[in-house]
Amino acid sequence: CKSVGIVGLPNIGKSTLFNALTSSNAAMAANFPFCTIDPNVGKVFVPDERLDLISDLLKTKSKVGTQLEFVDIAGLVKGASDGEGLGNKFLGNIRQVSLIVHLVRCFEDKDITHVSDQIDPVRDIETIETELILADLQSLEKVLSEKKKQSNPEIQLKHEIAKRVSEALSSGIPARDVEISENEWPTFQALHLLTSKPTIYTCNVPESDASAGNKYTEMVKEFSSKRGLEIDPVVVSAKIEAELANLESEEMKKEFLQLYDLSSNGLSKVINGAYKLLGLQSYYTASENECRAWTIPVGTKARQAAGVIHTDFEKGFIKADTIAYVDFVDCKGDEKSAKDRGKQRSEGPNYVVNDGDVMFFKFSG
Ligand code: GDP
Repeated sequence: CKSVGIVGLPNIGKSTLFNALTSSNAAMAANFPFCTIDPNVGKVFVPDERLDLISDLLKTKSKVGTQLEFVDIAGLVKGASDGEGLGNKFLGNIRQVSLIVHLVRCFEDKDITHVSDQIDPVRDIETIETELILADLQSLEKVLSEKKKQSNPEIQLKHEIAKRVSEALSSGIPARDVEISENEWPTFQALHLLTSKPTIYTCNVPESDASAGNKYTEMVKEFSSKRGLEIDPVVVSAKIEAELANLESEEMKKEFLQLYDLSSNGLSKVINGAYKLLGLQSYYTASENECRAWTIPVGTKARQAAGVIHTDFEKGFIKADTIAYVDFVDCKGDEKSAKDRGKQRSEGPNYVVNDGDVMFFKFSG
């Protein structure tokens, strides 16, 4: 599954948020066989209202959401790229993740020391990004110092890209903002640069500001739009998330969120942003025994989508009986009624799957 790294300066609420996100899921996660190897890594079920409704309609015995892995990447400080505070280890951890949640402190609290004594989320973002940029410059230097074999076009291309990105980085521009053409993309990605990772700025605010934000979140918003980030910063309260994690029932969680004028929890906001940035969507398989959500990149065709379930489904693919999510709900989950109304389509291997499709695969084994 995809992995999301929570990054930020010390004492800004990373661990509080990480623990809330992963422990609120612990009860549900306990039903599934995986073990925690590292206390800083946790798997989280993606909250999914569509899956809940499909499963309610069919009164299924079990439902299985998709999962994202969260990694609490602590210890990034100024100087990390020079190995300051365990710098290299943490930069290595960031290299492994698909997406960065860059958490910034947007709360005041004189009892909780800020590394720079004063709250300034934009300066904090720049401090971290400078370290990531410096680390990227170091890896590009290595690429550029490799011997160029004039005859090898692949190495030529790598050098060309490294040079261009390196120039951008030197003027403070992260690699994700450098224009890269389609044919350069695979080579660019193979450089595994830290600043090429899609990033969501996430503001940790006091409980009272969780709904409307505050002056600090406005600063981050302005900075983010100047930077041209694809999605707006997300506002969360790590403390609210921590309280939510202690509540048992969905009903209680909803009521608790309403107290703060919130309609969804922070996890949903982060995950929506992550799916959008990573170009992901879900489709569903549904029977009375089990309903399940599967994650695929936008644009995936039916045969490859089937392969996410099992390679045999992909190899022996015959067809996919498909009902759009809205039609499935309209027909109250009754497959026969969907068929009678012409809402169930029989799709071939090249059908491009739509977000929310409910699919029944036929395959030869
Ligand atoms: P980390 O170093 O970034 O992982 O930060 P922690 O999650 O360990 O939090 C550092 C301290 O800040 C802890 O004492 C938290 O309880 C506190 N903290 C986290 N979020 C908030 C918040 O939104 N408001 C306030 N006042 N304190 C918070």
